[in-house]
Amino acid sequence: MAYKITEECINCGACEPECNINHAIAEGNPVYVIDHAKCTECVGNYATPRCVEVCPVDACVPDPGRKETKEQLLAKWRRLHPGQQPVMT
Ligand code: SF4
Ligand code: SF4
Repeated sequence: MAYKITEECINCGACEPECNINHAIAEGNPVYVIDHAKCTECVGNYATPRCVEVCPVDACVPDPGRKETKEQLLAKWRRLHPGQQPVMT
């Protein structure tokens, strides 16, 4: 499932550059936001969700309203990166 950023976010900006392949994270108001259409849980790019690892306040969490299978996440990755091959599956 896609991840989301909770109101615990302190706007440190650490997560944004970690999502350097899907570019799903952006500064928002009042807190940073994840575009669910671009978040693949890092499937296709990394072994684990990068934003989760760097967030100092654990504000990056799975969005239970957006459940997706690994196959669906890989399909999303392929739509985002046409003609490319995923690094991590
Ligand atoms: S889980 Fe990965 S793809 Fe999703 S927002 Fe975080 S860094 Fe980006
Ligand atoms: S790393 Fe965490 S606290 Fe920092 S901007 Fe991202 S979600 Fe907010």
